Amino acid sequence: MNYERPSENRTGSPAPANGRSPAESVDYRLFLECVHCGLCTSTCPTFTEIGDENDGPRGRIHLMRAVADGRLDVDRPMREHLELCLDCRACETVCPSGVQYGRLIEPFRLAVEEADATPLTRYDWFRQIILFRLFPYAKRLRLALAPVVWAQRFGIYDLVERMGLLRLVPGRLGQMITLLPPPRKPGPRLPRFLPATGRRRAKVAFFVGCVAEAMFRHTHWATLRVLQANGCDITIPDGQGCCGAIRYHAGDSPGAKKDADANVAAFDLDDVDAVIVNHAGCGAMMKEYGLHWDDAGQPARQALADKVRDVNEFLDELGLIPPPGRIEAVVAYHDACHLGHAQKILSPPRRLLAQIPGLDLRDLPETEICCGSAGTYNLNHADMARRLGDRKLENILRTGAQIVLASNAGCLLQIMREIREHRAPVVAMHPMDLLDLSYRHEQPVLPDSRGR
Ligand code: SF4
Ligand code: SF4
Repeated sequence: MNYERPSENRTGSPAPANGRSPAESVDYRLFLECVHCGLCTSTCPTFTEIGDENDGPRGRIHLMRAVADGRLDVDRPMREHLELCLDCRACETVCPSGVQYGRLIEPFRLAVEEADATPLTRYDWFRQIILFRLFPYAKRLRLALAPVVWAQRFGIYDLVERMGLLRLVPGRLGQMITLLPPPRKPGPRLPRFLPATGRRRAKVAFFVGCVAEAMFRHTHWATLRVLQANGCDITIPDGQGCCGAIRYHAGDSPGAKKDADANVAAFDLDDVDAVIVNHAGCGAMMKEYGLHWDDAGQPARQALADKVRDVNEFLDELGLIPPPGRIEAVVAYHDACHLGHAQKILSPPRRLLAQIPGLDLRDLPETEICCGSAGTYNLNHADMARRLGDRKLENILRTGAQIVLASNAGCLLQIMREIREHRAPVVAMHPMDLLDLSYRHEQPVLPDSRGR
């Protein structure tokens, strides 16, 4: 299958400026866990799309290890094979040897990024302004999106989208605009404390995040109501911010560490049973706070990581108080990679959803394959992201689902775009949105057969 790499025609090797091999950032023993069996290749989205061994997990591990062994330099083609990886970690889930692929690719790519002296990379405006100065800050993001929200409210955005004009906006900015979801009432600002409804069963803190707070505050409210209905006192401390995943995955490890340390300072761990996170990308990042940096702050970061629970995982452990409201709809559950593969949380959301009376929960084919979102991957690798998004939508439609559920902001944005662009008769929402409706005896708004 043809795949045009974004920078295939560029020449020149991004020679490390600091003289260190990126392989030095990886514990060499981790390479040895791979026995080259190849069982992971068929679950790798990029391998299944392209069919090139270098774009699969086994090939990528081989390339990184060759650098560690001094048999290969980090040149442009090699870098492209590594950059095309979604870091979805589907390969980890199926690997019989327990290879920790994320602990190979993440530090390796970071080291390549940090060592790259190319001015183009260092002063990439999108990375420096949009990724580092806008995305991690909910208030700034909401302000920047205000004109688009108004255009959506007055139908201008919809018209422009229908005419295909959004696709004319070039590059990553264009991709970003096409991902924006339709406006909805976000609800009021989140308070600092919410009491349990009825008998108190747990005391938790809630992680708010950045993109999730700017675009999915309604889901935060739904999550908080579900937690209250399940007997949780909830604190929402000031001082918390982005989980750090945006900076970490874009090659800014020191910036990500600052984000992590701000969160460490914000949460009083002695006071709560768990720190609840409702978006998988943030949860996966926070659960790995103790792995990424090795300095005096490591024990405190690990302590926070130990308290982090995905909301599906937490409610399943606590024992869900069955939601009473009947919802007769066909539903497919999409496993967000950072929930299913990175956090190994597969059954809990399904067990929770199965308790909604009337719900017809169907298996999603190829649920292990990424939807193409992968953090900011869909901005940087638009072609591959679109291919995977189309593939995901086809699989969703094959189930006959009226609602597709995903526990991650990135997946929701990606799948919602697919739905809008194909006028597909399905809506996307977070599992907590649906549970909340059931607790409140309300019904979801379902699309008609024309996808409206
Ligand atoms: S990563 Fe695991 S599944 Fe893939 S080739 Fe290596 S040992 Fe086999
Ligand atoms: S993380 Fe995902 S894209 Fe990367 S090698 Fe593994 S399965 Fe493939």
